Order: sequence, then C-alpha cells, then structure tokens
Amino acid sequence: MTDVLIIGGGVIGLAIALELSLLGIKVTVLERNACAQGATWAAAGMLAPQAERLSGDLLDLALRSRSLYPHWIDQLQGITGMECGYWQCGILVPYLNEVLVWKLNLHTLPEYCDRAHTKTIQTGLNHNVAGGLWFKDDAQVDNRYLSKALIAALRLRSVKILEGVSVYSIETDQNQVTHLVTSHGNLQSDRYILATGAWTKELMPLPISPRKGQMLEVFDPNHSLKTVLFSEDVYIVPRQDGRIIIGATVENVGFTIGNTAQGVSTLLNNAIRLYPAIAAMTIQSTWWGFRPHAPAEIPILEVSPTYENLVLATGHYRNGILLAPVTAKVIADLIN
Ligand SMILES: Cc1cc2nc3c(=O)[nH]c(=O)nc-3n(C[C@H](O)[C@H](O)[C@H](O)COP(=O)(O)OP(=O)(O)OC[C@H]3O[C@@H](n4cnc5c(N)ncnc54)[C@H](O)[C@@H]3O)c2cc1C
Repeated sequence: MTDVLIIGGGVIGLAIALELSLLGIKVTVLERNACAQGATWAAAGMLAPQAERLSGDLLDLALRSRSLYPHWIDQLQGITGMECGYWQCGILVPYLNEVLVWKLNLHTLPEYCDRAHTKTIQTGLNHNVAGGLWFKDDAQVDNRYLSKALIAALRLRSVKILEGVSVYSIETDQNQVTHLVTSHGNLQSDRYILATGAWTKELMPLPISPRKGQMLEVFDPNHSLKTVLFSEDVYIVPRQDGRIIIGATVENVGFTIGNTAQGVSTLLNNAIRLYPAIAAMTIQSTWWGFRPHAPAEIPILEVSPTYENLVLATGHYRNGILLAPVTAKVIADLIN
C-alpha cells in the first residue's frame, strides 16, 4: 500500500511527490486530467519574489524558494538529464512615471537605474523610459519543461502517477480521513495531501477561488531580450529559444474559459508600449489559466485543522512555480 496519496498533479503535487520519494516515502499522485495541465501549464515561470513585491512571511518563503531553485534544478536535471529552462536573467522594471507607485510598495531594495543604465541592461525599450528598477536575483524557469522533468523524475523513481483519476470526495470519520471516493473506486492510504489548486473547494470547504489569467506568446528567433520586463500592467518573459511570453490579466470571473479580444488586445498594447519590437513579431498562441487565490494571497501549507492525516498544500496564487521547491520541503517536514 502507498504511504501517501497526493490529490492533484500540478507543480505543487509533483514537487511534493518528488521530495517525499527522495525521503523513501511511497507516494501515489492522483490527477483527473493529464499532469501539469492546470495553472502549472498556463504560467509564465517567473521566479519573482522581488518584482512581485511580496511582503512579510510570504516574501521570506518566496526568497527561500528562489534560493533553493539552483540546487533543485540541478537535482532534477541529474535525475532526468532534461533541460528546465532555468535562467537567472534578472527582472527589470522600466518606468515612465510609475516609479512612485513602486517605491511605495517595495519591501526589498532593487538597484535603482537611471535612463542610461537601464538601457544598458536592456536595449530597445520605449524611448520615453526614464529609468528602471533592477532585480538582478529574480529569475525564470520554463514551467512546461520543468513539469515534464518532474513527471519524468517521478517515473524514473517508480512513483505511481494515476492520470485520468478524479477524486469525487474525501471521506472522513471523526478527525481522520478514511478513504477517497474516485472514478476508479475507493482509494486508501495512511496520509493524504490536497494539492488541487483552484479547484480545491470541490473537495474541502477552504477559501480558495480561481483568478483567471490570459496570456499569449510571440516568436522572434533573433529577439534581443536578455531579461524579463515587468511593469504595472504587463510582463514580458523571453525564453532563450525565441519564444516571448506576454502576460497576464487578473480576472475574478470564476472558471469562465477562453481568451477575450479585450484581454489579448490590452496585453499586446501594453507590451508593445514597453518594448516596441513586439509589434512586428508573430503571434504563436494564446491561452488562459486559473490561479488558486487564497486570502491575503498566502498559500495554505499545514496539517488540516480538522483531519489529522490530511495535509493542505494549496492557494499558491501568482507564485506557485516559484514556491514549488519550498512547498515541497515544508510539506515533507509535516509528513515525515
Ligand atoms: C496566467 C498565469 C500566469 C502565472 N505566472 C506565474 C509565474 O510567472 N510564476 C509563478 O511562480 N507562478 C505563476 N502562476 C501561478 C502558478 O501557475 C500556480 O500558482 C501554480 O501552478 C499552482 O500549482 P498547483 O499545482 O497548485 O495547481 P494546478 O497546476 O492548477 O494543478 C492542480 C491540479 O489538481 C487537479 N485536480 C483538481 N481537482 C482534482 C480532483 N478532484 N481529482 C483529481 N485531480 C484534481 C487539476 O486537474 C490540476 O491538474 C501563474 C498562473 C497563471 C494562471
């Protein structure tokens, strides 16, 4: 029998599964679709505790996770030989007149750059750019490559991944989870981890709700973007193979699917204003995803207050890719 059943095969469930398997714990991941097709697939992959202007305990957690990244990626690449697109490219916040807003909300200090310095960090910016804030330690990972590597690592370590298995309910008796009712019958283990992202409320009455984000990708094999560009209303994330990810809207519209003309046009206009060369690039694709929003934007990482053998790992909102390695450590400590 498996020791731990993880419900949800997004980056959070997969990262926890790997950490537990490395500790010798027998894990099974239950995923109702294919793994890593939810928010994990939709993300931009920024590792941006500073540019995202996180604060308090969340900032500490996020800085810890960012510092875990290089080793975590080395470990994954060591197991699988697969590239994850991890790139310590820094994040630049070029400003026209937004700097006051940013200064008011900063909890960590960036490097303040004048116009000339900003242009040495990144050429081709809107010519009205007056300066920039440079977060040189923020980084990015290709979340889709990362997920493929996580799945491959789990398979190589013989972790069971059951795709196409829906968990319909979590059955309980007093302060214990007794079993899961699933599309493949009842499943039981010693402990259970809930990592169901934006869909968490379907299984437990937790205050997690979806926040839709629309995104798109343009392509230019010769683009000269060397860093992520981040502003109040858009971010531009260059990959090293010519793709450029542009995001993202934040919409409180439940699970309404689809890209809208308004969403895509706003993102494109804002991106072109910031980095005019985007106007001539080919649009490759558009997509959307649902971020798991939690109160105060702080993820829920704890033993369930109601059920002793259930651990909650959900609500990572805008930063689940960043927070995956630290979440895996925190949850492994709770399980071990
Ligand atoms: C547009 C967008 C941009 C983003 N950009 C970034 C970024 O740049 N950097 C960053 O750090 N984060 C970013 N995020 C946030 C990040 O993607 C999420 O915080 C993270 O992916 C959450 O991971 P998760 O595993 O909790 O959720 P998900 O990836 O959504 O996975 C949850 C999984 O649980 C499964 N599931 C749910 N219910 C059940 C059930 N009953 N039975 C079986 N399976 C179930 C789902 O099918 C899904 O696969 C972004 C998100 C979006 C949408």
